[in-house]
Amino acid sequence: MTDVHDIVIIGAGPAGSTLAYFLASNGLDVLLLDKAAFPRDKTCGDALSPRALHVLRKMGLFEPVRRAGFQIEKVAFYSPNGKHVTMAVPAYDNLPNFSVVMPRYKFDNILLEHAVSANAQFQSKVNVIDVMREAESIVGIRADSPDGPIEIRSRFTVIATGAATSLLERAELLAHLPEYSRAARTYYEGVQGLSDTIEFHFDAVPLPGYGWVFPISPTAANVGAGYYAPAGRIPTKKSPRHLLDEFISSSKVSDLLKGARMTAPIKGYPLRFDFPKARIAFPGLGLVGEACGLVNPLTGEGIDYALESAETVAGFLIDVFNSSKSPQYVMEKYTQILQERFLRTFNALIRVRDWYLRPWMLNRYVSAALRNEEVALLLVNIGLGNIDPLKAFSLRNLVRIFWG
Ligand SMILES: Cc1cc2nc3c(=O)[nH]c(=O)nc-3n(C[C@H](O)[C@H](O)[C@H](O)COP(=O)(O)OP(=O)(O)OC[C@H]3O[C@@H](n4cnc5c(N)ncnc54)[C@H](O)[C@@H]3O)c2cc1C
Repeated sequence: MTDVHDIVIIGAGPAGSTLAYFLASNGLDVLLLDKAAFPRDKTCGDALSPRALHVLRKMGLFEPVRRAGFQIEKVAFYSPNGKHVTMAVPAYDNLPNFSVVMPRYKFDNILLEHAVSANAQFQSKVNVIDVMREAESIVGIRADSPDGPIEIRSRFTVIATGAATSLLERAELLAHLPEYSRAARTYYEGVQGLSDTIEFHFDAVPLPGYGWVFPISPTAANVGAGYYAPAGRIPTKKSPRHLLDEFISSSKVSDLLKGARMTAPIKGYPLRFDFPKARIAFPGLGLVGEACGLVNPLTGEGIDYALESAETVAGFLIDVFNSSKSPQYVMEKYTQILQERFLRTFNALIRVRDWYLRPWMLNRYVSAALRNEEVALLLVNIGLGNIDPLKAFSLRNLVRIFWG
């Protein structure tokens, strides 16, 4: 089978479906491919930050997602010494003052259906195995499909395959093997004592890492744990599954889950946050979402970056598509707009992660947040990815955290 499309997008997660929606609703001929049959599960904490909701608002999906998900009004941080602080999700800028938690099985399908309703074509069970090149440019893809091997040609190709790197490796599109965080999660039902609060626990997993309890209803929750093994330090010998077992049996969490039942197997998956080192575009092809390492290195949130990067790239591709710009120009500009939008924040997040996720620092921070409302606001805004994390390092804020 041979076909030619304006744009072929590989991967129908939040990045791919969002990009497909924006491009198709602007009249481009978009083909979206995924190796999975939808609805499909994706191992995740399922939390949609206010920034993610902000992009969904522009797509006309804010109300449907709010209604279908579980609304979160508060965030709690537990420090390694067991103290905790709970804060309302703040109204920051023009972002909503709440979050939503919704299993990805539901959320990703809502996004995909929205893209299809905007006239994007979708084919499931298509495993893309390589790209096709002509005269130094990428001109389409090769894939295994239920009908056998296929080739599809496109004027521009986008890879939105998340943390999976097999296609990038095979097509020689990976600048380096990325560093990963690893995390695992499961679901519980019949949980007593949940509220409209998401909990981040730095008290029952090795640092740098955390455990979480994210409610998906008044009596059910996504429970998970993850860690980051910095290069040069000895990584923990424990798998994410072991970390999660330990987290679940820690005293606070086991009290919360007493009488509740696990309703899904524990599943682990990597997270890629290497955006500052990633190659983002090639002649004829660009990357979006976690495929170019866009996951918050401090918190592991990636859905918001998937949506934001898709929106950013869509605006550029719509502008450039019918012009006679060279593949080289498009590659350079594509890289530039994503770097302008995210590079400074990512470099800051990496520096802050290496500084913050130490027991004494987290203990200080949570104690200061209990005393001082402005520190509390700073902590919740950093945790939600609302603000530049380097703000925490202003002299004024350091004084508040250490002495105030
Ligand atoms: C345990 C865990 C907890 C997390 N918790 C949160 C959280 O609470 N909030 C948050 O914001 N982020 C969280 N994240 C991060 C978030 O899950 C990802 O960053 C996000 O899913 C990235 O979206 P994406 O569209 O870039 O990729 P994905 O959602 O991974 O989608 C990629 C798609 O590409 C398809 N695909 C892959 N390879 C191919 C191929 N060769 N051919 C065809 N199709 C292919 C896959 O089937 C998939 O559908 C978590 C991650 C993990 C692992």
